[in-house]
Amino acid sequence: MSLKQKDPQIYKLIQAERKRQQESLNLIASENFASKEVMEALGSVLGNKYAENYPGKRYYGGCKVVDEVENLAKERVSAAFDLPLDWHINVQPYSGSPANLEVYNALLEPGDTIMSMDLASGGHLTHGSPVNFSGRTYKFVHYGLSPKSGKLDYMEILKLADRVNPKLILCGYTAYSREIDFKKFREIADKAKAIAMADISHIAGLIVGGVHSSPIPFFDVVTSTVHKTLRGPRAAIVMCKDKYAAAIDKSVFPGMQGGPHENAIAAIAVTMKEAHTRTFRKYAEQIVNNCKALAHALQDFGFKIVSEGTDNHLMIVDLTNKNITGMEAQKHLEAGGIVSSRSPIPADPRKPWDPSGVRLGTAAITSRGMKEKEMKKIASWIAAVITDRSIADQVKDEVRRFCRNFPAPGL
Ligand SMILES: *Cc1c(COP(=O)(O)O)cnc(C)c1O
Repeated sequence: MSLKQKDPQIYKLIQAERKRQQESLNLIASENFASKEVMEALGSVLGNKYAENYPGKRYYGGCKVVDEVENLAKERVSAAFDLPLDWHINVQPYSGSPANLEVYNALLEPGDTIMSMDLASGGHLTHGSPVNFSGRTYKFVHYGLSPKSGKLDYMEILKLADRVNPKLILCGYTAYSREIDFKKFREIADKAKAIAMADISHIAGLIVGGVHSSPIPFFDVVTSTVHKTLRGPRAAIVMCKDKYAAAIDKSVFPGMQGGPHENAIAAIAVTMKEAHTRTFRKYAEQIVNNCKALAHALQDFGFKIVSEGTDNHLMIVDLTNKNITGMEAQKHLEAGGIVSSRSPIPADPRKPWDPSGVRLGTAAITSRGMKEKEMKKIASWIAAVITDRSIADQVKDEVRRFCRNFPAPGL
């Protein structure tokens, strides 16, 4: 018997969500469409297996097959990221947030100083927000963006590092549209004798696809989710220099987690195989080209883009000249079948719950095969519903018909 017959309530909800995903334009920068193959691995019997600890030294019997799965996943991560021989990989973190906490727990003592970007400027909750375990456990000192340029100011970051002497310097963001200069961060970390950590959750697919530089030649530790631009399962990885390997493995298990999700680890392996191809490189290039095209088209409609543009898969639209808040814009857009997430702008005078901007990303719509021409169309819909809420129904109808021509992978 199928889910449809055995549990029609959940079946119907899944169908409703599928329909929503098919019929709307997903501009949420952290989302994507995993392939059928990724989902097949994720929904497989591997999820039945307990396999605490690492391949070759598990606490349970029957782990021969999952050992092979986990080793293969690690080999493929190594190939996709072109890891040097003296780097180590852990594929067990349940998701991006635990991965970050596991790294801090491995390399620092409670109360140690970490330098990172604050949430409002584009950091992540686990980068030291006071409501997160990270912020309650370590001493975070935050750098922000230059209010004038909307970009990282490496001189300011260097000065701050000089002053506060952090044990660890963290870069990698959720809402930053410019390329990160990892070499500069390395120089700053060296001066402060700090560990250099990059959280590449958002840009991992762009790095593997060769359209964003990689921190790996310069950094000590790199964490990443697998479900954003990489288009994989909800899961995360940690990559680090060998000298941190033992501490990080111990921190992931038994320090913070129990049994690894071998189904998710198999799906990571599938993702890395998909990502280590010419097709994926083309995909990554198209994400960035689409993002630039969407930003330009929006600028032509009078929208202000933070830092005047983008180098990656996302942009922050500053709505202060449009007489609408981020929350209202997000609602108008959704009424028109366009899904986005509201976002603060640098030095935002408004509160995070209802900030002054929206964040738009092109990873998911690029997975549907949309190109520059479609970005112009999308910009015109965005401009239309933000200016006039009353036409949202009409736009929603047009978006639904438009989406039929661009079937999403895995749906
Ligand atoms: C998404 C993200 C995370 C957290 O990932 P979850 O899987 O939601 O826990 C951590 N750091 C950054 C920079 C992210 O963008």
